[in-house]
Parts: sequence; C-alpha cells; structure tokens
Amino acid sequence: MASIEALLNNADIRAALRLAWRESHPGSSDGHEEGGPHPGCRAEGLEIIVSFHTHPNTGPDYVQEPSETDKRAVRDDPDLKAPHYSGELVISAALLYFVTPTGDVVELGETERILAQT
Ligand SMILES: [Zn+2]
Repeated sequence: MASIEALLNNADIRAALRLAWRESHPGSSDGHEEGGPHPGCRAEGLEIIVSFHTHPNTGPDYVQEPSETDKRAVRDDPDLKAPHYSGELVISAALLYFVTPTGDVVELGETERILAQT
C-alpha cells in the first residue's frame, strides 16, 4: 500500500488535486464538491490507490473536516477494498485531511503548503 506522503510527493498528483480544488470554486456562492479517483491516482492501470473530494465552502457554518458520512462512505464502499487502496483525501480551504480505509481521520496539514507547486 502506497503511503499518502509518498503520493503527495508526486507532482502530477499534487497538480491534479490543485486543479480539482480550483474547479470546485472554493469560497464562492456556487461552491460544490469535486471528487473521484483521478487517472493519475491509479497504479498498474486498474487499482484505485487514492480517492479524494473537496470541501469548498468556507463560511463559518460549514464543517471543514470529513463528516461522519464521509468516513462511513470510505469505510463501507465495496469499490474501495483493493489492497492498493490507501484512503481518501478531503481538501478544505485550510487543511488537508485523509480518511483511512478504516474510517479514521488524519490531519495532514495546511492545504496550501502541501499542494504547493514545488
Ligand atoms: Zn465530504
């Protein structure tokens, strides 16, 4: 199983995540969640190794961290049981979260810093 840190060291994966984040229009009134496995996030052409979705709403009423539904979805999705699957990233304005296949949440750090170009 690939570690999430190793995946985030991959410039192509970071670029794909930055693009998805921009396309979800963070902070604007038409913010919407973007997600799904990206072709660049597959290994050996078939296996999904990481999935992600965004939490673009930045208002004070919105929960930024992964919701109970998010955790359950990762834990209970039969499509996410492959041995290569390492978990789901949740991209919010401030922090980057990671939901493990067992439904636990890890805070990876500041979104802007982790998804930075370099
Ligand atoms: Zn969510």
